[in-house]
Amino acid sequence: MAPSNNLFPSNFIWEIIEEDIKANKHGGRVATRFPPEPNGYIHIGHAKSICLNFGIAAQFGGACNLRLDDTDPAGESLEYVQSIIDDVRWLGFDWGERLFYASDYFDKLYEFAVQLIMAGKAYVCDLNADEIRQYRGTFTEPGKDSPYRNRSVEENLDLFERMRAGEFADGSCVLRAKIDMASTNVIMRDPIIYRIKREPHYRTGKKWIIYPMYDFAHCLSDALEKITHSICTLEFENNRPLYDWFVDQLIMGDRPQQIEFARLNLSYTVLSKRRLIELVENGHVAGWDDPRMPTVAGMRRRGYTPEAIRNFCAAIGVAKNENLVDIGLLEHCVRSDLSETAPRVMSVLNPLKVIIDNYPQEKVEEFECANHPQKPEMGTRKVPFSRALYIEYDDFMEEPPKKYKRLGPGREVRLRNAYVIKYQSLRKDERTGKILEIHCTYDPQTREGAPPDGRKIEGVIHWVSARHAVPAEVRLYDRLFNVPDPSMAGDDFMETLNPNSLETLSSSFVEASLKDAAPGNRYQFERLGYFCIDAKDSSGKHVFNRIVSLRDTWGKIAAQNKP
Ligand code: ATP
Ligand code: MG
Repeated sequence: MAPSNNLFPSNFIWEIIEEDIKANKHGGRVATRFPPEPNGYIHIGHAKSICLNFGIAAQFGGACNLRLDDTDPAGESLEYVQSIIDDVRWLGFDWGERLFYASDYFDKLYEFAVQLIMAGKAYVCDLNADEIRQYRGTFTEPGKDSPYRNRSVEENLDLFERMRAGEFADGSCVLRAKIDMASTNVIMRDPIIYRIKREPHYRTGKKWIIYPMYDFAHCLSDALEKITHSICTLEFENNRPLYDWFVDQLIMGDRPQQIEFARLNLSYTVLSKRRLIELVENGHVAGWDDPRMPTVAGMRRRGYTPEAIRNFCAAIGVAKNENLVDIGLLEHCVRSDLSETAPRVMSVLNPLKVIIDNYPQEKVEEFECANHPQKPEMGTRKVPFSRALYIEYDDFMEEPPKKYKRLGPGREVRLRNAYVIKYQSLRKDERTGKILEIHCTYDPQTREGAPPDGRKIEGVIHWVSARHAVPAEVRLYDRLFNVPDPSMAGDDFMETLNPNSLETLSSSFVEASLKDAAPGNRYQFERLGYFCIDAKDSSGKHVFNRIVSLRDTWGKIAAQNKP
């Protein structure tokens, strides 16, 4: 089942399904599946497919299977299976008892292949890969029959059995469907359905040395599971007649109806497993769950919520033509969700020490602060105040411009949730010119509100008490790529990597209330953005990931740069 919120607005897929139900096709049943190959971690594009398939099942009272389409031993692993299971569950979906593996159908698929041979509709072909390509023809020229196309059923049965038994070298022959070498659809020109590959499979071990091709296994797995609507991306449109052909030859009853939709492309991101693997293997990121990765594991570690990702998938909807979705929309969904749910706290990323000269040395006051400005039900917490504080280095300027509303010579500012303070003096490192600390005085009459003499205080800045604050490492993430569509660079996409996609601040401070907060917790650091406690690196120290900034600063910068 899928969570009942984040519904997709009606679209062409919904309309097809509604029609099918009306016509009592498949007896009015709706069954979908999410069929990833476990050869990498799933990403935001897969999340769209997951939300769609589970969403359809939920909205039409049907069921959605999770099926690992694991027909190619190369690159598949248990680690990937486990990650997919964890990630789909984390996104909020539940497949009940219906977790399936295409590899569980290997015996059945082998039988299907034998059935095709017996019907005179498949043959063992000894052409090598290059020859098969040459014989296949092109979009404009028909193909040529393979010289092995007319082998007898008996000879084919014998050869296929011997392929399975290991009598032939890898690549020396294949089993092909006998369809039509002159078809205008190149995919129908006697496609390969089995090949020899001496590579152990992570589930079936060494039992098989022949493996079914994806095109053969995928559609038949759907049919075996009695899927009613096989939702897939547009690049499989030309494969549909082939899938229908296989199912019609081999399975009785209604066949699954394939419906294609445009895959998600996201700006400043790559969404191909092959490219994501390259990023991981070449060390450009710290693993599949690096918070800059568009993987579900990465977004989860970054602090994105499943709710925000589901909202995003519903917001982009489904269409028949490909486009590039602005990553700003994803960030917007994250921000809107967190603005409702994340408790507010104060933290200082780049600290500047402030001494309140007229505040007693040992005195500590506690301020009761709201965890959310609009939600009293989210409660309050106590924030300690003392003579030495940290404020943001940027919140003080020695020679501020006129419009600057923060601290500077002769200026006053409100400390968020606390007193008004006034600048007095500073101490600098003589050699570097860096400001070491500033001295201020506080106005004791401003604890509860505006100064009684009516003077106006315009700026408000955040702070932490130096004695109480917890030292923290803060990781600021930026887009992984410098260009909106890195895939335009083809195999050179690495050259468009943003070298500044991670900035680590190692001398930040967070307020005392976060001392024992749990990994994974999310907060709004007031005035700074949304942050989450890193779930991996936080033992023995406090590490925070910036989930997203407070506003769409990228949008703003882009607007400023416009002529
Ligand atoms: P590749 O990176 O080679 O494109 P893949 O994404 O096809 O790999 P699969 O494991 O086969 O990997 O994908 C599982 C399902 O997710 C498929 O049904 C596929 O159509 C869907 N899917 C994959 N990428 C996207 C995407 N960007 N947008 C929407 N759906 C996607
Ligand atoms: Mg695929």
